[in-house]
Amino acid sequence: MRDRFDVAIAGAGPAGAQCARDLAARGYDTVVLETESEAEFPRQSNKSTGGTFPSMMAGFSIPDDVVMHFTDSVVIESPTQYFAQEQAGAVLEFADFKKFLVADSQEKGAEYWFDARVSKPITEGGSVVGMQYNGDGEVYADVVIDATGPAAPLAKALGVSDLKHKNQAIGLEYELEGVDLDAPGYADLTDAMMLRLDHEYAPGGYSWIFHTGADTAKVGVCYIQNETYQQYAKNRTIDGYLEHWLETDPRFEGTERIEGKHHRGSAHVQQPGKLSTDGFIAIGDTVPTVDPLWGEGIHQGMRSARAAAIAVDHCLTPDDPDTSAENISLYDTLWHREVAPKMDARLLMTQLLYFAANERYDELLSDLNRLDPDTLSKANQGNKLAIAKLLHLTDIPLLTRFARHRLGV
Ligand SMILES: Cc1cc2nc3c(=O)[nH]c(=O)nc-3n(C[C@H](O)[C@H](O)[C@H](O)COP(=O)(O)OP(=O)(O)OC[C@H]3O[C@@H](n4cnc5c(N)ncnc54)[C@H](O)[C@@H]3O)c2cc1C
Repeated sequence: MRDRFDVAIAGAGPAGAQCARDLAARGYDTVVLETESEAEFPRQSNKSTGGTFPSMMAGFSIPDDVVMHFTDSVVIESPTQYFAQEQAGAVLEFADFKKFLVADSQEKGAEYWFDARVSKPITEGGSVVGMQYNGDGEVYADVVIDATGPAAPLAKALGVSDLKHKNQAIGLEYELEGVDLDAPGYADLTDAMMLRLDHEYAPGGYSWIFHTGADTAKVGVCYIQNETYQQYAKNRTIDGYLEHWLETDPRFEGTERIEGKHHRGSAHVQQPGKLSTDGFIAIGDTVPTVDPLWGEGIHQGMRSARAAAIAVDHCLTPDDPDTSAENISLYDTLWHREVAPKMDARLLMTQLLYFAANERYDELLSDLNRLDPDTLSKANQGNKLAIAKLLHLTDIPLLTRFARHRLGV
């Protein structure tokens, strides 16, 4: 078996497979090592709800046949209120989506090694020159990319992207049939992706219902087990929280779980540290790239994959290739400028949002219904005026508590 490539990627998730797609299309000799077996792929890594938007579908030429259901609105719910906004979206069949990315990159020339569990980087003179897999297997490349998601064996060993356990968000989801999507007293969730802010079901996080056609939906919860979680938690496991929601929300009365359709996973919500070093780049959830506020990680991860492909092209195109940390750091620049701009501000907004109590969520949604329909989109993009419109004088104690909490006093 060959052991030398232009680029070797660990992990065939949306980030790794997309990066292989872009690099193979540019003619780079690319190999992807994936820990799962080809026959079962994706199994444990079939973890995502797969909610996405036309910007991702069109931006990365994703075919409609990996979509379970197209949606036309996004709904935010609190214990007693809801806010609905028209917004085209798509709920992907995540397994089909992953298989498509792999098949398409193979067609473009990328090679895949399944059953290949990457364990550590191989370095020479301080530069990454390859990776070790399945014990003593070795593969060498001009550039090595870690796209293994939160596992991050290479990035961790190299001190790139310092993933901290206290920033790890965990998520669990079932696919259900028999869901009442237009129940009295609730928003009509037909053709909608709904996120619910309610500490009763997701302390310090959110829960969701994404319509997947007829009376079926993906229903899940996620949260970070940090101080906000401790404040609202009721000694349940994540499975216990999802069960609690299913047992107490009338929309789930008489629903049945679709066999074999449950998804579980994690992602880190934190400011990334270093993103690359000599001969090495970390992408997707390894960084982590997932949007802190709403957990959108697919589009973000694929954009980081594209930024990595651009950086590789920049390093390997010259007659005398240069994969030094300085040259490869074009990736870091692109990441901060185009992949996840304003990450600091979004992290702050996220921490503040999940810090607030249920009653404040009700107030927030009443405000959104009262204000200009674009307020949420603008606040979401970090527009200070829009954010200010959503704050009240009565928030001063909350903001003070939040500031003290951040300062650790
Ligand atoms: C419950 C849940 C729901 C979510 N819902 C949404 C959503 O609706 N919309 C959205 O945009 N995002 C969502 N996300 C986030 C999104 O799924 C992730 O951000 C995205 O999958 C990250 O892609 P990735 O390629 O970086 O990593 P991953 O998807 O984690 O892929 C990593 C790949 O690497 C492989 N691997 C791991 N370790 C090794 C190793 N040692 N050697 C070789 N291969 C390895 C894995 O098997 C996997 O194939 C959700 C996440 C969770 C957990």
